[in-house]
Amino acid sequence: MKFKFLGTAAFEGIPALFCNCERCRQIRQTGGRSVRTRTQAIINDDLLVDFPADTVSHVLSNNIDLGKVKNCLITHSHSDHLYTEDITILAGGFSYPAPDYEITFFASEIAGKGIERLLKDIPKAKLHTVKEFDVVGADKYTVTVLPAIHDEHSGPVIYQITDGEKTVLYALDTHFPRDDIWEYWEKTKPHFDLVVMDCTNALRPMNYVGHMSLFENAEMKKRMTKMGIADEKTVFVSNHFSHNGLNVPYEEFAPEAAKQGILTSYDGMEIEL
Ligand SMILES: [Zn+2]
Ligand SMILES: [Zn+2]
Ligand SMILES: [Zn+2]
Repeated sequence: MKFKFLGTAAFEGIPALFCNCERCRQIRQTGGRSVRTRTQAIINDDLLVDFPADTVSHVLSNNIDLGKVKNCLITHSHSDHLYTEDITILAGGFSYPAPDYEITFFASEIAGKGIERLLKDIPKAKLHTVKEFDVVGADKYTVTVLPAIHDEHSGPVIYQITDGEKTVLYALDTHFPRDDIWEYWEKTKPHFDLVVMDCTNALRPMNYVGHMSLFENAEMKKRMTKMGIADEKTVFVSNHFSHNGLNVPYEEFAPEAAKQGILTSYDGMEIEL
């Protein structure tokens, strides 16, 4: 499985739009891996995870052919993960996809509302509504839908994705996983090859519910390994960074994550599993 991080920032991007904070000023100077667009990923060139406004820039900078992408997993309705306006580009006149082209968006009932209102005018867009602990098929992928601890008005879920050989956990915009997820894993005993974890707070200890910092990421790694659903070959990656996080520049954060055996994402990072 090939997993590519197209964007790796939280809602504001890094440097954040309009921002004159010390971090953003510093990163505008240094550039490099600290510059981040909003989160999106692509698996094997044909399965998209999330659909932010930065999709246009990701497709251009990574030379992606969306004609090959038939499925898109939506984590929740926040606009850094789902920018429905750009789905309307599928309508006649804005683009000319192949006659048989269709793309299915997988989303919870709440997150799917914004997509549902478009379906009548955009027959090439399909919606597959999912709920927590559903196991659904998306072409060659089997996708398990797990609950997220995040703004409940956004219909948040996280995804466990397998292509039949390798298995990924995509856990963005969530707090430390809920007890019922650990119980589910205890029962089903999956084996994860890649674990992508929310790290909005970077090195700042969490002082609210809904995201994670490196401390929760390290705890997740420890607990998954102890449970036997991850091992020394499992790749753990911190992702979804905000300029409000502490020590968020790549050069400051990555060595601290490395001490925990965790990689630090950057836009364009590719992992071959
Ligand atoms: Zn987000
Ligand atoms: Zn800033
Ligand atoms: Zn969110």
